[in-house]
Amino acid sequence: MAKRRTQKRRGRLFILSAPSGCGKTTVQTRLLRAKRNLKRSISATTRPPRRGERNRRDYFFISEVAFKKQRRDGAFLEWARTFGYYYATPREFVEGIRRSGRDALLSIDVKGAAQVKKQCPETITIFLMPPSMKELKKRLSKRGTESETERRKRLKVARWEISRARTYDYIVVNETISSAISQLKEIIEGVDRQ
Ligand code: 5GP
Repeated sequence: MAKRRTQKRRGRLFILSAPSGCGKTTVQTRLLRAKRNLKRSISATTRPPRRGERNRRDYFFISEVAFKKQRRDGAFLEWARTFGYYYATPREFVEGIRRSGRDALLSIDVKGAAQVKKQCPETITIFLMPPSMKELKKRLSKRGTESETERRKRLKVARWEISRARTYDYIVVNETISSAISQLKEIIEGVDRQ
């Protein structure tokens, strides 16, 4: 009797973008805890680690030389330069997640999201929106990880990113963490049913 092959489902690709200071990390952590089949892609960056960040858990912290070599070798699905540093999604890392049947969550900026959507139009893109610019400013200063100049730069980029939100498949307003999580779960579960 011929052996029957069980074909593993290929995982889907989700992108979550948000302006800096919007609370994306918190929302993302809670979402990953709630959706066990969703796995976060770990990006490579040339930015130095912030206090509490760990190599290979938060980012692959690499040098600019290593970044440029990997980029030349085609190791990145997308890349962008933001706030003076390079960021990229390692292609093989994401492929590994999807091959294992799990969905991949890319937490990347607007420029990177556009590159992925162009290559993989089936990607589901979600923009996490701050309730207002006033609230975003408040959250950024409360975080206190950046200098005043850096904060101003991030707010300027935030304004531009918010203007690109309409290019996303979904917009979720981060009014409260729990309402954002339930909306994100609804989106993911809705896609699962398709
Ligand atoms: P942070 O330095 O605050 O961790 O991230 C700064 C920005 O870089 C955020 O908007 C974040 O979404 C974005 N980012 C993080 N990883 C990647 C990536 O792999 N590719 C792109 N294009 N952006 C990324």
